[in-house]
Amino acid sequence: LSEPCVVEGRPFFTVIVPIGGLRPKGYLEVVSDPTPNLIPVETALGMPVKLTWPDGKVAYKSSAWPAPDAMAQTLMVEYTLMSGRSEPILTVAVLEDIHQLDRKLAHIRYAVTAFAALIILAVVTAALIMLHRTTLRPLAVLKQHLRLVRKDPARLGEQLPPGRNAELNELTQDFNALSAELRSMHQTLEHTAFTDALTNLPNRMYFHEQLRQRAVASGSTESPFALFVMDLDRFKEVNDTFGHDIGDQLLKQVSTRMRGVLRHSDIFVRLDEETVAKLGEELIARLGGDEFAAVVPNIANAKQAATVAQKLVKAMEQLFIVGMHRLNIGISIGIALYPEHGVDATTLLREADVAMYHAKQNKGGYAFFSSSQHSHKLVQMTLERELRQAIESEDLELYYQPVISAKTREVICAEAVVRWHSANNEIMLPDSFIPLAEQSGLIKPLTRWVLGRAVEQCARWRGMGIPIDVAVNLSVMNLHEPDFVESVMEVLKKWKAEPSWLTLELTESAVMSDPGHALEILLRLNAMGVRVSIDDFGTGYSSLANLKNLPVSEIKIDKSFVAEIKHGRPDSIDTNDTVIVCSTIDLAHNMNLQVVAEGVENPETLQLLTSLGCDKAQGYFISPPLPYDELIKWLGSSVWSIKLWSNINDSEKPRPAVSPRRTRLGSPD
Ligand code: C2E
Ligand code: CA
Ligand code: CA
Repeated sequence: LSEPCVVEGRPFFTVIVPIGGLRPKGYLEVVSDPTPNLIPVETALGMPVKLTWPDGKVAYKSSAWPAPDAMAQTLMVEYTLMSGRSEPILTVAVLEDIHQLDRKLAHIRYAVTAFAALIILAVVTAALIMLHRTTLRPLAVLKQHLRLVRKDPARLGEQLPPGRNAELNELTQDFNALSAELRSMHQTLEHTAFTDALTNLPNRMYFHEQLRQRAVASGSTESPFALFVMDLDRFKEVNDTFGHDIGDQLLKQVSTRMRGVLRHSDIFVRLDEETVAKLGEELIARLGGDEFAAVVPNIANAKQAATVAQKLVKAMEQLFIVGMHRLNIGISIGIALYPEHGVDATTLLREADVAMYHAKQNKGGYAFFSSSQHSHKLVQMTLERELRQAIESEDLELYYQPVISAKTREVICAEAVVRWHSANNEIMLPDSFIPLAEQSGLIKPLTRWVLGRAVEQCARWRGMGIPIDVAVNLSVMNLHEPDFVESVMEVLKKWKAEPSWLTLELTESAVMSDPGHALEILLRLNAMGVRVSIDDFGTGYSSLANLKNLPVSEIKIDKSFVAEIKHGRPDSIDTNDTVIVCSTIDLAHNMNLQVVAEGVENPETLQLLTSLGCDKAQGYFISPPLPYDELIKWLGSSVWSIKLWSNINDSEKPRPAVSPRRTRLGSPD
């Protein structure tokens, strides 16, 4: 038995041990003072110890026990020892300095935190590795692929392997499907962008790019080729006469024939696959309208190119049968040879173009580029620039050619024809620059200028009491200006001119090129009160029946027919042209159209036309075209205008420049 006990007010530990084996003889009691042993206990605990008697008196107090005022900083634990009879014997108190405890705990905290952090790090790393493997890497592959496809559309449609998880798999499948769809869309778009829809041949864009690539590629292999630029002859006429549908069919047939001729295996020698791969296929394209181009590889000299060109010319000369029509066209070919004439695509194309222009001019079928032609083209370009300047700086002048009434022999109208005072003081006639204006788009500003000036000058002579109208020539392009009718209206308003003073002359091919559109414009002009006259009638394919539904008031029989009829006699009509003129007049009258004869050069013709019932006449016999001032003077003196002045008093009447020379012929009175 061992127990604490109190002896003489001091704490002791007693241990009672029986003596004498199984039959105890007595008991040995050992009493020991615990206090001297407390110092090592304190050291071992690292805490000061205090023992207190139940009455509160201190039995032992460590030297390190803090003073009562420092007790707030400490954490104290008391333990009361009980005797066998459950009486308190001694209270043991130990205490710990809070700061010290805190420091100790801090260490533990750090250790725990560090450990936890390590664990978290490990877990996160593992998760990331998983994420990377299963999701991020496949996503990166997808992204990379997207980039590649964006940079190089040729890779569109490439399929990616399925993903590692369901979501990724779905994403990849969607991507693959989208990519395949885009590829087919891309191909369709590319095909549309690079193909001429009508003939299914490559278009201008594709041709230029291919030509450029071939020129570059041939630079390294030195393989020669020929560039053909081709333009159909008389295609416009067919289109204008038979309509766009027939024109389109014709172009298709032309492209088929062209392909047949230019298949290079048929040109000289049959090329094996390898050579074809090396030289590239022949390339045929439709550049637009009736213009085609071709690159024929393996053409070493002009002679070979000429052979090919001749074949093409021959093929195109053969009759085309489109629907019910038998069509006769031709082709003009310009040839430039690589590398002889040029080594880059732009130069070659320009040269072939110039050569084509030359072939067209000379009606020679085909022509090779030569530097002298180049200067010819340059002349054209210079001319175009000069004409542009002429329109801007008003170096143009209107001449007026009088038109008389066949019945009264009085001037009733004057047709405005334009003249160009060119830089070298030459007066240029319209035939030498109107086609250029039409080709270059300058016809729009030119017509605006002519219309403005003609209406202005007509209003001027009307203001002087001269009751004659004015006629202005239009080009087909004018009908396609969206605001053309408005511009006519504006001009009339500007000069306070009556719409009935103005006649617009259009050639029959201009009207027939797009009858639907022409009808719309003519109806609007007609509604305004402006008259429309069909110029050069008889030179095109069309007939009077075509004009039936158009709001046209007169036709002008072309001077080529008029010039020929003078030998005919009204009573004994014997020439072909007289028959044509005669029946045209009759038919026109049946359709309520007036007939003007142009190119009347002698009294006999005028006489004959009058007897055939022609309504109006115009020509050198009456007067050539005159500048405005001369026209006014001429009107003051001409036998064709005497009646005009009868209502105007002498002071207002312009002075005659020359005395009347001609006697009036065939006058009804
Ligand atoms: P056009 O409208 O048929 O004009 C008649 C042309 O025949 C005029 O030639 C005129 O000088 C010429 N001429 C007149 N009387 C006779 C004659 O008795 N015998 C012969 N052999 N010829 C005669 P010009 O002035 O050289 O005009 C030629 C063509 O240019 C005109 O033919 C017309 O189509 C066009 N043109 C003239 N001015 C203009 C214009 O302002 N705009 C447009 N778009 N074309 C115009
Ligand atoms: Ca005319
Ligand atoms: Ca004419």
